[in-house]
Amino acid sequence: MYRAKLKNPLPGAQWSGITTSLGEKLLETNQVDAILTMAPDALDPWKPTPILITQSTDMAKARGMRMGYAPLLALLDVAKEKGYKRLGIIGIPCQVYALRALEKELSLEQLFVIGTPCSDNTTTANFHEFLQLIDPQPETITYLEFRADYQVELRFSNGKKKLIPFLKLPLSKLRPDFFPLTCRTCVDYTNTLSDITIGYMGGTGEQWLIVRNERGENLLSMLGDSITLSSPESAGNRFGPVKGFMKNVELAAGGLPLRQMPDWLRPIVAWLMPKIGPRGLEFARARVEMKAIETVLHLRREMPKKIKNMVPNHVWKLTKQYGLQPKSDELNQ
Ligand SMILES: Cc1cc2nc3c(=O)[nH]c(=O)nc-3n(C[C@H](O)[C@H](O)[C@H](O)COP(=O)(O)OP(=O)(O)OC[C@H]3O[C@@H](n4cnc5c(N)ncnc54)[C@H](O)[C@@H]3O)c2cc1C
Repeated sequence: MYRAKLKNPLPGAQWSGITTSLGEKLLETNQVDAILTMAPDALDPWKPTPILITQSTDMAKARGMRMGYAPLLALLDVAKEKGYKRLGIIGIPCQVYALRALEKELSLEQLFVIGTPCSDNTTTANFHEFLQLIDPQPETITYLEFRADYQVELRFSNGKKKLIPFLKLPLSKLRPDFFPLTCRTCVDYTNTLSDITIGYMGGTGEQWLIVRNERGENLLSMLGDSITLSSPESAGNRFGPVKGFMKNVELAAGGLPLRQMPDWLRPIVAWLMPKIGPRGLEFARARVEMKAIETVLHLRREMPKKIKNMVPNHVWKLTKQYGLQPKSDELNQ
């Protein structure tokens, strides 16, 4: 694992642009015929659209995060028709999971899987509703990130920036199913099936890399000295915040977990959290455990019979410390 950033961050990238740089390098060095990834829709820049990129200079089009679903793997058929046998794919965990299930029958000569973590996703239409709630001129927002220091960062078309602490987000105004059940019960936040995962959650203000195998190591080495790598930091204690989150998920009864906190206290806690809350790897661990807890609680409420097939044993190990243990019919023996 590394804390990382490109020495020269790329314009338009979500963080410094490590993800799309890897695609660029793979094309430049002719190790792949195409990179399968998402570009913005021509009419709605927040809408992801699958694309096969064959020129390294075109990777710039894909930079940035767009919230929404789009059928990335549908273009595998197009890749096959075009005779592309060597592919690089950039995807979120659910896309990579499906890709690995199909991998054998694709009969590719080369496959590089560059993953990003994904905590939650929603439809682009829902995301537009969220943008409308957080700013009077939502159409001018060009960038949004849920940062690891408990703030949402917004950038605008006029170059301005704005930070909103999580605690001040108008979550109570969002529809209860803003995040669909599939995302609320996802147990692969960190994209375990990728060759390299590129996120920010454990990066304390920089990016966070998890190199998962030799292929991932080779990918990273292509960036040479254009990337700065250091050991991830870790501080604070996640136990209290994760326990508090669990209580809120229980109280929310299937909706979004709203914090039960008086309004006057919110700015104080919002100021304190980045200073004393879990940070770096401890923050990443907190999010992984929160996702595990959410999975169990939401499935118990909405689809209890699916638990034994959808909750792997390692997830129960994470939830045990919070008093959440499997009942006999919830284990897949
Ligand atoms: C819905 C979503 C939720 C995320 N949640 C987290 C999180 O909780 N924690 C975390 O650490 N990181 C998360 N990420 C990843 C994070 O936003 C950055 O993309 C990542 O850190 C890479 O930054 P970069 O500068 O290297 O990316 P860039 O070089 O800017 O490249 C970004 C890549 O992401 C692709 N992409 C953009 N939108 C989508 C989409 N909707 N579906 C699939 N691919 C897409 C682009 O096509 C591009 O290839 C999330 C990403 C998405 C798409």
